[in-house]
Amino acid sequence: MKKQKNFTTRKFCKKGDSVLRPHWYCDSVFTIPYDELYARGIRALIYDIDNTLAGYDDALPPPRTLELFDRLREKGFTVGLLSNNTHERLRGFNQHIQLPGFAPAGKPFTTTLTRLMRVMGATKRETALIGDQLFTDVWCGRRAGICAILVKPLTDKDVLWVRIKRRLERVVLKRIL
Ligand SMILES: [Mg+2]
Repeated sequence: MKKQKNFTTRKFCKKGDSVLRPHWYCDSVFTIPYDELYARGIRALIYDIDNTLAGYDDALPPPRTLELFDRLREKGFTVGLLSNNTHERLRGFNQHIQLPGFAPAGKPFTTTLTRLMRVMGATKRETALIGDQLFTDVWCGRRAGICAILVKPLTDKDVLWVRIKRRLERVVLKRIL
């Protein structure tokens, strides 16, 4: 498989690496090398929702995302959802797929992530958290000591607060990748 330019294949960050440094950085949830993750022992994939799996305006998972979930389950992964958006957002998004999930998750705090991992029966070593934001998703995963995967945001449409954070993210990403 062709490696992307800004793709990092390090399984564990080195001591002294920024706690914001993702273990992997991929173009989207569709280009994550899931076979390699599986080979490295990852079995539980926990996804952020907004701008990771779907745009803010997508009330339901897009067909492409549903196909991805089917493929992942066939490979032997379990899939969960962890969103900082409202409980209503998660309930609507999750109504047909019924994945284990929590919202609001309070990322980068790890309490809800840990709760979800317990529900999914997943240990730290076999869990990856996948999301589009450094200061919530990646930091949360790193703090919890699990594999943290950053993807580029699906759309450039963000709420105001996230737009502000994006500017800061760009600065930090340049420094740590
Ligand atoms: Mg997001």
